[in-house]
Amino acid sequence: MSDEARTRPTYRVTELLGDGIGPELSRAIHRLAEALPVRLDFVEVDLTLENRRARGKLVYDEAVEAINSTLVALKHPTITAEESPNAILRRRLDLSVIHRPVYTIPGVPTNFRPELDLDIIRIATGGTYDDPGRMIGEDGAVSLRIVERRPVTEAARYAFNLARKTRKIVTSASKYTIQKGTDGLFEKVVAEVAQQFPEVTHTVELFDALLGKVIMKPEKFQIVLVLNEYGDFLSDMACGLAGSLGIGASSNLGFDAGAVVKVAMFDAAHGTAPDIAGKNLANPTAIFLALSMLLYQLGEISTGQAVRNATLDLLRDGVRTGDLGGRESTESFADAVAAEVSKRLAPKPSAPTA
Ligand code: NAD
Repeated sequence: MSDEARTRPTYRVTELLGDGIGPELSRAIHRLAEALPVRLDFVEVDLTLENRRARGKLVYDEAVEAINSTLVALKHPTITAEESPNAILRRRLDLSVIHRPVYTIPGVPTNFRPELDLDIIRIATGGTYDDPGRMIGEDGAVSLRIVERRPVTEAARYAFNLARKTRKIVTSASKYTIQKGTDGLFEKVVAEVAQQFPEVTHTVELFDALLGKVIMKPEKFQIVLVLNEYGDFLSDMACGLAGSLGIGASSNLGFDAGAVVKVAMFDAAHGTAPDIAGKNLANPTAIFLALSMLLYQLGEISTGQAVRNATLDLLRDGVRTGDLGGRESTESFADAVAAEVSKRLAPKPSAPTA
């Protein structure tokens, strides 16, 4: 190791290896990490389907132990087969809130003309996703929908704190008129938290109406707070409006008793893209934006900003992978972002002294 590498601020980061395009994205992340002025020591945990099938629960024990020790993690996409690794990790690590910023990137082609800039805050657990359901006789099935006060409170506090810091408004959306018990509890808890933030404007929408309004008048929405499955639907719709599923990234957050983030896992919105796996075609934008969020969480704000802005500026200038109509490969795009980040973060030559 060089002296320079030794003196860089060093952070341990758990890297959860995945399936499909996961290995290519991991190589792209390591390429970019080499260009940073901080040193990221990756603690790798193999979450591939093959290893999960071979080692079962032990793989998750290993992942939970690693993340509880490093406190930050970057997760690559994994195949959902027997179980959803995301759902298991969110439950076991008590990650109650998902924050997914989605915005149109200037210059990136979309089917949608207006500008969109949303922070989607999603309750990470419960809703219809904790219970796969069961058959009732031959021709019927039932599943439980779960809404719990604690994760809703944590998500609402996170949303209102973000709104206070950024001077934005919070919109909560649900089907409280029909789902009176579950969605009624959600809106009641959000309204209680809203009272602690009198300076933040809080509006309420029915979730179906919200979808139409985001498409027609996206400028009316800033921070949107929703239950688990609604957040899942809204995020993919928003990414689609912004031009590609390949550009959404999120943080999955767990909190201490003082409402401060204790554990954070960052990932891309997209899946394992089996149709392009192993072909050097995957767009690493989402995982780079996830890395940028991770750097913010570590307090490395200027490095996080450089990763985000270098990625977005290159996209704007037409340096893009095939899914966005460009000619770059995963590797050449990663090289371009790494070179741009190095350039932006290079120490400025000191002015000559007289
Ligand atoms: P997908 O997101 O993997 O792919 C949908 C389409 O988008 C495909 O055409 C794919 O080529 C393209 N795409 C996705 N990411 C891309 C990228 N980075 N660059 C370029 N193109 C990209 O969704 P799917 O096909 O529905 O799911 C495939 C697998 O991924 C399934 O096993 C699913 O369970 C899993 N999945 C995992 C996660 C996760 O781990 N977070 C999320 C969603 C889906």
